[in-house]
Amino acid sequence: MFKNPPKDCQLCPRLVAYRRESQAKFPDKYNGAVPSFGPITAKMLVVGLAPGLKGANFTGRPFTGDYAGDVLYPALLRHGFGTGIFKSRPDDGVELTNARITNAVRCVPPQNKPIGEEENNCRPFLIEEMTSMPNLKVLFVLGCIAHVAVLKVLGLKIKDYPFGHEQVNKLPNGLILVSSYHCSRYNVNTGRLTEDMFDSVMAKAKSFL
Ligand code: SF4
Repeated sequence: MFKNPPKDCQLCPRLVAYRRESQAKFPDKYNGAVPSFGPITAKMLVVGLAPGLKGANFTGRPFTGDYAGDVLYPALLRHGFGTGIFKSRPDDGVELTNARITNAVRCVPPQNKPIGEEENNCRPFLIEEMTSMPNLKVLFVLGCIAHVAVLKVLGLKIKDYPFGHEQVNKLPNGLILVSSYHCSRYNVNTGRLTEDMFDSVMAKAKSFL
């Protein structure tokens, strides 16, 4: 039976300290390790890097409460991966049907940048996530760091499975790795990632289900 890390997971001292700082400033917010969202029976796992300070760290649901989620959830709903109307709140009633969302690192890191040790500490949770999904076919990764994190889970090297937007890699275990630029505000505002590009990569991921 799959288990998310405990909300007060203590494995990464720097992230625990950062969470406590946030908790002191914003005691009514979530401020903990963020559990995955969506059914364990889903065929697609969306993997991001880590919760945003005022996004998932505040709301407790991945990609909820910040800009990246405002891009990701509407795209998932447009492509039939869920039902409801996304309102950027964990109680908005959105339900995912054939997708699950997680992060390579479950706690918010300072400057949105986890260090290698934190990625290593959190990797067992991603491994458990992936091995607990009985119908998993597609790994939809957001950004190069999440791409590498997924490859590390599987003991694979980026030189053999390169990252690029809309890059598809067929993995030795039969899973399909579909990579996208991260749907961050920066990438959207700079035009690196447009809504059409994001729709296109999500349609590609869906085509493998
Ligand atoms: S990042 Fe992962 S391993 Fe580190 S404290 Fe949070 S849940 Fe635990």
